[in-house]
Amino acid sequence: MEHEIKDITILGAGPTGLFALFYCGMRGASAQVIDALSQPGGQLTALYPEKYIFDVAGLPKILAKDLVRSLEEQAAQFKEPVHLNQHVTGLEERDGHFVLVTKTDRFPTRSLVLAAGIGAFSPRRLPQAVAEPWYGKGIEDRVLDPEQFRGKRVIIIGGGDSAFDWAQQLRGTAQAISLVHRSDRFRAHASTIADVLAACETGATKLFAFHELQDIHATGGAIDSVTLRHVKSKELLQLDCDVILPMLGFVSDLGPLNEWGLHLVNDEIVVNSQTETGHAGIYAAGDICSYPGKLKLIATGFAEAATAVNQAVHFVHPDKKVAPGHSSNMAVFGQKDD
Ligand SMILES: Cc1cc2nc3c(=O)[nH]c(=O)nc-3n(C[C@H](O)[C@H](O)[C@H](O)COP(=O)(O)OP(=O)(O)OC[C@H]3O[C@@H](n4cnc5c(N)ncnc54)[C@H](O)[C@@H]3O)c2cc1C
Repeated sequence: MEHEIKDITILGAGPTGLFALFYCGMRGASAQVIDALSQPGGQLTALYPEKYIFDVAGLPKILAKDLVRSLEEQAAQFKEPVHLNQHVTGLEERDGHFVLVTKTDRFPTRSLVLAAGIGAFSPRRLPQAVAEPWYGKGIEDRVLDPEQFRGKRVIIIGGGDSAFDWAQQLRGTAQAISLVHRSDRFRAHASTIADVLAACETGATKLFAFHELQDIHATGGAIDSVTLRHVKSKELLQLDCDVILPMLGFVSDLGPLNEWGLHLVNDEIVVNSQTETGHAGIYAAGDICSYPGKLKLIATGFAEAATAVNQAVHFVHPDKKVAPGHSSNMAVFGQKDD
């Protein structure tokens, strides 16, 4: 599918990309943001949705997932599209504009803000070879709709935030939940761990610490049980289940960005103080960009997003100034005409 051309396309819907999308709207530029993940928020959504963040200006304390929700809400004022589940693999230049290419879609654009963080995330796969044929047929590494697990016997593998979050959130939807982890050390939010352990006390959830997947059994092409192995005693046990959810975190890959002729050092795009990459019309902001003194923080990503978008606006529409003026005085927000 070929999408309509936009003034600015943002690659990456992390905090930097979401703020950039808002900023494009504020500056009157048409825009879109593209992300490989099924949800916006980048590292905040994928790696630490339940953690509190304490160093976002003006917000003494905010859950990562709530900050993402606010950023989405702020950007949504301008009704520009957020394209999810779109892993960008190619960049083409055609008739004086760019085209970002994914497996299924093409996104033409007059300028680009690369806010790709530490690269495209994909869920870490189970290391056991026996698991591979079952992906998409009983092994699901993304929960897009909790309702798909209604009445199912679910095994969740992992000991981090997403394993505990889903052990908590599928309670009452799944028929049975078993949490399997290689150790008894968990890396999730303390209150979620406490909640899940309390559910284990009542029998609503089963916990198999020090266990790992050994084998998968099926009847009629559908998973009906697994064999778990105790990592210390090597004892085996069989557990009935319909679905396995490996929640093992994510691996990230800069992949195609390495091949776009940009100046990369240590997987970071070198930019100047205007966030210019050296390729006219392409800017970089957030964790992906590098310059002397760069800090990889949400706060700096926000500032770089503003710089990049203001530069891109001027690049696409030379009659528009780089300096944005003050939002408190802008007609676009119903304030005194600027
Ligand atoms: C556990 C943890 C705690 C943290 N706590 C804090 C904190 O308290 N305060 C703070 O300021 N910072 C914190 N950080 C750092 C902060 O999360 C990052 O600085 C921030 O996420 C960077 O935002 P970003 O938008 O630049 O990149 P990211 O959040 O990495 O988002 C980049 C997005 O680009 C997408 N993408 C990349 N390549 C492609 C591609 N080819 N196609 C499609 N999509 C692509 C990715 O899928 C991703 O969604 C923490 C980080 C971690 C891991």
